[in-house]
Amino acid sequence: MKTFVNILKCNCPNCKKEKMFKKGGNLLMLNIPKMHKNCPLCSYTFERETGFFFGAMFVSYALAAALMIICLIIF
Ligand SMILES: [Zn+2]
Repeated sequence: MKTFVNILKCNCPNCKKEKMFKKGGNLLMLNIPKMHKNCPLCSYTFERETGFFFGAMFVSYALAAALMIICLIIF
């Protein structure tokens, strides 16, 4: 439950004390929040790991292949 609260507060996943963003953005005004590169308190690096989207690529490929097979059978 504490982890969920920390996610909603956008706290650092390592030390859970410092904020991950420099300042919050406003999506209605098309302002994207700016993120720190490292945590100012514990120096944890906020970046995606190599291969972050690798699993999504396989799921997307499977869904596209299934849709294509269904379309070939129907039409
Ligand atoms: Zn931290």
